[in-house]
Amino acid sequence: MHLLDMTAAELAEALAAKTVSAVELTRACLERIAAVEPKVHAFITVCAEEAFKQAADIDRRRLRGEPLPPLAGIPVAVKDNICTAGIRTSCASRMLQDFVPPYDATVVMRLKQAGAVVVGKTNMDEFAMGSTTEYSFFGPTRNPWRHEYVPGGSSGGSAAALAARAVPLALGSDTGGSVRLPAAFCGVMGLKPTYGRVSRYGLVAFASSLEQIGPMARSVRDLALLYDAIGGWDDYDQTTLPAEFIPTLPGLNKEIKGLRVGVPAEYFGPGLESAVREKVRSRLKVLQDLGLIVEEISLPTTEYAVAAYYVIAMAEASSNLARYDGVRYGHRAAGRDILAMFTRTRQEGFGPEVKRRIMIGTYVLSAGYYDEYYRKAQEVRTLIRRELEAAFTRCDLLLTPTAPVLPWMMGEKQRDPLTMYLADCCTVPANLAGLPGLSLPCGFVDGLPVGMQLLGPALSEPLLLRVAYHYEQAAASCHATPPEGGGAGGI
Ligand code: GLN
Repeated sequence: MHLLDMTAAELAEALAAKTVSAVELTRACLERIAAVEPKVHAFITVCAEEAFKQAADIDRRRLRGEPLPPLAGIPVAVKDNICTAGIRTSCASRMLQDFVPPYDATVVMRLKQAGAVVVGKTNMDEFAMGSTTEYSFFGPTRNPWRHEYVPGGSSGGSAAALAARAVPLALGSDTGGSVRLPAAFCGVMGLKPTYGRVSRYGLVAFASSLEQIGPMARSVRDLALLYDAIGGWDDYDQTTLPAEFIPTLPGLNKEIKGLRVGVPAEYFGPGLESAVREKVRSRLKVLQDLGLIVEEISLPTTEYAVAAYYVIAMAEASSNLARYDGVRYGHRAAGRDILAMFTRTRQEGFGPEVKRRIMIGTYVLSAGYYDEYYRKAQEVRTLIRRELEAAFTRCDLLLTPTAPVLPWMMGEKQRDPLTMYLADCCTVPANLAGLPGLSLPCGFVDGLPVGMQLLGPALSEPLLLRVAYHYEQAAASCHATPPEGGGAGGI
């Protein structure tokens, strides 16, 4: 098997057995990146020098016989809104085009402690606002399966890098679906953890009450490996949960028979493409064969989730992005006085989608509209959370599509932001309720990947990963093999 087709777990074994060195593996990754980048453009920054240094250090330690941590020598790609000391972190924005953080995000620090080798920073929608990775100041990422299609977003670079076999592991961030949607569109896996399970220290803020950093990979084992490496309490992020972090990897094999899976009718209603419905529904049989009990349920507040999400996310964005004023961070434009400098800086530094959101966010928070929009959205958020919590008293987990549609053509929805926002209808409820969500591949339609989503109650990551693991064994053929003529072969 080619080195880069291997999972992180398999690579860890090969590295431990010294059949390959960390430096050789890093070189293979960088060569692969160089080969696919002209077509896919998954990376904003490739950090070859730092990666080789880290890899050489791991190799030296291995030769000395030191006991090494679980990800020692494994290459990983990091979304470009997660701070990396000494390596540019641009958020795909002109505003932060030259921003080099003086510190590592907690997740990056933990990755390094686990021995992982950061090979590059991945492309994304500017400040993580979008569903296609087209809103990047550095140009769009393309779907490795079919290049004329979007890879999903906003962590499209991380998902495409995985699908293109450029890295075995990647980090994304998920405010309203940005880990899960691109995972689905690129035929890989992604987990949005329970709010507070993974530190946000060093994640550039978009909508702080909604977002989490999440692991992305091509196998459930790898997803668990990465999640276990980054999760848990962090002194630097007081929103992290004090509940003990129980590693998920050792429990993947545990029994799942008898678990109850709810299938909410509203996620399979109008607006869902029939090919997606068929694919996801057909997987119910796999779960039943594994001994799970499937139950149809109803979650009537689901239809309000997108509206509530966009009001809250934009309100928080307008506040979080106020710091980009030409003084404290990033880009500064010339101006005859402070106000002119401030205005021009923001005019030049932000792209159109970010400006749209700052304007709408400011509007919904303004006196007179606050009650009508922001407060109402918060009330809806509470209803959605309560409804989901009630559902989890009856079911252990829920199964839904990850997106209601197949990946669309590049450029297709750019002029109509509303239809793009609607593609988030299956993913935003988990963010509003702070619950974990996992996207898994469930086959292809016309050479384009389809994803399904498992949702669970707070802190149910071990359970979601376990069910995903059993599903993966039972349905390997739905995600491992590229379809006839599938694009990944062509990259
Ligand atoms: N697509 C959603 C948005 O544009 C989600 C983005 C995200 O999760 N960062 O807001």
